[in-house]
Amino acid sequence: MKNGNNKRRKIRYGRLIISLLVIIIIMFFISIFINDKDTYMIDVVNKNIDTVFELLDKYNLDIEINYIYDDNIIKDNVISQSILEGEIINDGDMLSLVVSRGKLDKEKFSKDGINELGRVPIMMYHGIKNIKNNDTKYTGGNVDKDGYTRTVEAFRNDLELYYQKGYRMVKLSDYVNGNIDVSYGYSPLILTFDDGNENNIKVTGLDKNGNIIIEPNSAVGILEEYKKKYPDYNVTAIFFLTNNLFNQPEYDEKIIKWLVDNGYEVGNHTQGHHNFTLIDTEKTQEVVGYMYNKLESIVGNKYSKIVALPFGSPYNKNHENYKYIINGSYKGVEYETLAALRVGWEPEVSPFNINFDKTFLKRCRAYDNNGVDFDIEMTLRILNKTRYVSDGDINTIVTSVKNKDIVNINIDKELILY
Ligand SMILES: [Zn+2]
Repeated sequence: MKNGNNKRRKIRYGRLIISLLVIIIIMFFISIFINDKDTYMIDVVNKNIDTVFELLDKYNLDIEINYIYDDNIIKDNVISQSILEGEIINDGDMLSLVVSRGKLDKEKFSKDGINELGRVPIMMYHGIKNIKNNDTKYTGGNVDKDGYTRTVEAFRNDLELYYQKGYRMVKLSDYVNGNIDVSYGYSPLILTFDDGNENNIKVTGLDKNGNIIIEPNSAVGILEEYKKKYPDYNVTAIFFLTNNLFNQPEYDEKIIKWLVDNGYEVGNHTQGHHNFTLIDTEKTQEVVGYMYNKLESIVGNKYSKIVALPFGSPYNKNHENYKYIINGSYKGVEYETLAALRVGWEPEVSPFNINFDKTFLKRCRAYDNNGVDFDIEMTLRILNKTRYVSDGDINTIVTSVKNKDIVNINIDKELILY
């Protein structure tokens, strides 16, 4: 009996070994088949990057590109490749390519006044009103004496003027983070709206799909008009809100979702437009944290962690409340404010300037005062010689060698001095 059992066991083991061998042989052929699909890297050096994309299309590669200036390799041609010719490519391999920006032409930068250490205007608006300039009691489309509310005619004129003067819009958060994506020779400009006036984005109803219908003569209606009129304007703006949002309870949540989904930003103007000099540190955290929590509840993390300081308060960074505007917690939720805005008078410095302080940014008053007292005309006049002029490349900082002492060298971008 014992022997018989052993025999059967041996037979079973034999079958098992044969099965394993068959599996191994099958896997061997599968691996040969897979290896058959292995491909070898080709030489792409000195080829145009668009052609290279076509050539590499058949491989499943992650491609990373770094652009640098090169005196010998013509613009947009590959200078070097991280996977060399003849090496085996596996699915998902990372290929780093260095591509030429062409010859560095410092004379051209100088002639065109490229200066990424120049000033950037952060225009401060509040409300607009659908009346003609001639129907106001004040100059240049100011509806009130200080121009906090301007006519729609004046607002359209402002947008036209900025565009014609070579300004292109950038998001405030992009400026703050040093991501200024503006074409060669053009200058960045930022639009801000405080207080959530209904006329910032007036909703007149919903269409049959439930989407908001925006009044064409509200600020966003006009901005959308300019988005179509000048696609290269990169139209955007940031709206600083209090607990009342846009004063349209029926539509407010839809409005805010629409804004962040359509290239605009929403930020924090405190719960109730609080003056930070009149409240304590605990209340400070309450009125800032409340607004962050409220925006979070509507659009998740798509709002901007930026505070427009009501009345510009507390006016100085040494105030005891100031640090709680930047860091604090409310109802167990901690917050960190990326940037804070004062009420304005003059254009801010470049984000690459050593003196750039994103937590205390100056704005320009967007009003008319016959070219004096830092109105729009005066602001643009100041900027004529001092403005930021882009080299069109987000990865470099280009400026005159005269500015070398004011460049923040800790920024992870290539510095080019001419
Ligand atoms: Zn305000």
